[in-house]
Amino acid sequence: MLQVAVYGKGGIGKSTISSNLSYLLAKKGKKVVHIGCDPKHDSTKFILHEGSQKTVLDYLKDVPVQQANLSEIAVVGKEGILCIETGGPEPGIGCAGRGVLTSFDALKRLGLEDEKFDLKVYDVLGDVVCGGFAVPLRREYSDAVYLVTSGEFMSIYAANNIMRGMLNFDPSIPRIAGLILNKRGLENEEDFVRRFSEATGVPIVATIPRSKEFPISDKMGKLVSEAFPESEPAIAISLVRDNVLAHIEGTGKLYKARPLGDRQLDELMTGRKITAEFLEETDAINVRTTNSASMSCLRVKNAPAAPKGRTDSCASRGAAFVASKVKDVAIVVHGPSNCGYVMAHTSDYHYLTDVRSNRYADVLASNNVSCTRMDDTSAIFGGVSLLEKELRKKISEGFTKIFVVTTCVPGMIGDDSQEVVARISEEFPGITIDLVEVDGNITGDTQVGQEAVTSKLIDMIDPDVEPGNDTVNLICAVFIAFNTTANERNVIKLLSEFGLSINCKFLDICDTDDIINMKSAYTSVLVEESEINFGIASKLFDKGMDVFPMALPKGKEETLLWAEEMAARRGCPEKLASFVARVENEYSLAVGKYGKNLRGKKVAISLRSARRPDWIADALEDAGAEILQITFVKTGGNYERLNSAYQKSSRPVVECNIKDSVAELMKLNPDLVICDYGLPFSKYKTAILPWSDISYDSSIELLKIASNALKTPPMQGWKKDLMI
Ligand code: SF4
Repeated sequence: MLQVAVYGKGGIGKSTISSNLSYLLAKKGKKVVHIGCDPKHDSTKFILHEGSQKTVLDYLKDVPVQQANLSEIAVVGKEGILCIETGGPEPGIGCAGRGVLTSFDALKRLGLEDEKFDLKVYDVLGDVVCGGFAVPLRREYSDAVYLVTSGEFMSIYAANNIMRGMLNFDPSIPRIAGLILNKRGLENEEDFVRRFSEATGVPIVATIPRSKEFPISDKMGKLVSEAFPESEPAIAISLVRDNVLAHIEGTGKLYKARPLGDRQLDELMTGRKITAEFLEETDAINVRTTNSASMSCLRVKNAPAAPKGRTDSCASRGAAFVASKVKDVAIVVHGPSNCGYVMAHTSDYHYLTDVRSNRYADVLASNNVSCTRMDDTSAIFGGVSLLEKELRKKISEGFTKIFVVTTCVPGMIGDDSQEVVARISEEFPGITIDLVEVDGNITGDTQVGQEAVTSKLIDMIDPDVEPGNDTVNLICAVFIAFNTTANERNVIKLLSEFGLSINCKFLDICDTDDIINMKSAYTSVLVEESEINFGIASKLFDKGMDVFPMALPKGKEETLLWAEEMAARRGCPEKLASFVARVENEYSLAVGKYGKNLRGKKVAISLRSARRPDWIADALEDAGAEILQITFVKTGGNYERLNSAYQKSSRPVVECNIKDSVAELMKLNPDLVICDYGLPFSKYKTAILPWSDISYDSSIELLKIASNALKTPPMQGWKKDLMI
């Protein structure tokens, strides 16, 4: 499919020319998509059979992109042309360039099927070539660019500016198809544009005369090529059509961008001889020269969007957080230093992890997060040179694996980070640079960023490593809750029952070698069931790896089922028998011991974090307590994701808001509250749940804590003293 961009200064007639061009091509039997990229959204008005159409941006104001339907914004017009208008904000408000970027991302997500069409025609406002309006200039969007101009200096200036923009993208590849002179009836107009054409080396493919047929056809609600197919303007536009057809057939000629410098423009305007000094590739800001197809890039923008509403921080943070788990990779955050600060301090999470596990010294987070430090200037002129500089720095420091995580600002201004990464990767063949274009919360939430980097890390697993027999990988997107000393001790103990130890904790603090060799494990076990962990499991399957069918067990009952499955797989029924006997014995001793306090007691379970409550309730009931109610208190964070843990519960769970949680407990009037947060009042005896929840040991630990809580007063004396 050929992609054609028609650029020109506002009001120069590019919409008229491009819409007629689409019509004439469709009349020749071509299947055409016409995309208007001008905030005034009138490019398709005469292609449509009647009325106007909803713009992409207006539609996305009301409908989240994951619920959007292409048919709501793509309307079939005359001659079967599929019409789309990106639209834009009201004049003086917002950023129209960002609107173009958002629309293009949305169209990709909505699955505009390119294979069904012969060509796309983009009608683009070319007064300003900011990152947004320059998007259709990128090679991924346009194979041939036509520049519409008149003999007015400002329209020549705009055409020259567009060439400058192209010089910034890929100067070595010819992509300009020609100039289209749309006459305004000025004195020496043709001569003026001819001189510009000669100076830049770009031919004029058509000269469209001023003609009374234009306003008449407008009044008729028709295109001039439709109303007056034999008129001079229609015949002139058909020359552009023939030029496009030649490109479809592969016989068209394309030209490199050779824009004029300020001095030459001055010479052109004043009628003096134009000196032969062109802005060459090296004169342009952010010169780009490589084939972007060779790069390793994950376009998260094309992934399903995160749900609108409450999110757990931004996608860039999620991406940097996951990448920072791998000690020997560098993470370059492309954005302002404040974003970099947020990302760099994702290592705080490792600190939390350490506190919970009491392992301050032996778990070190990656401190390899750096930032391109975009500022006002780079936000205006583009920040890719900063990205290039930071990448070169990281390579000179000896890193062979680098993640580039983009933030909101480069996403909004349309920085072409792909091109920089492709070029540097080509220059340094031994270095792997993965671009994760998440663009902050523009493109999703933390989980989207986590998934993006996780996928890239899974790609690193060596498929040729032979599976062993004595280790397992533990799989969890976020190891924070898992990383308590008790949990890890319980897991090591459980695995050792079956002759197994831990190979790689994916994804906890590790080296790239740990990931590369993940396939050497006997199997991989999910730490807990969650959407994101299932996603990782399915990718491991795709890599030909075995994934154990049950996540790590929580509480006693699940532990026995899990052990049964593992023993069956490993063919060791005798180990299972002795394990079951030992578990039953230890557990019944604990139930007998702690049940003395718990028997007959009324217990309320109140939780805020994503914990499965059934094993907690099972243990308490085994010890003779009565469960009054399990309450899920909705707080911050992503409610849908937290809630999924409760939806898996086999017992009924009552939801309440944080402000109602106290009243909810008052209503129940329990002897004991089991919760995972500190109660804000002292009326009831409280047992705070331990972070450990894996294996049968957790059930025993819980009974012990609950029993001890019943022996202590609701408020300890030292706390009372503090309140006086
Ligand atoms: S949401 Fe955007 S601006 Fe805020 S920290 Fe994330 S990337 Fe930076």
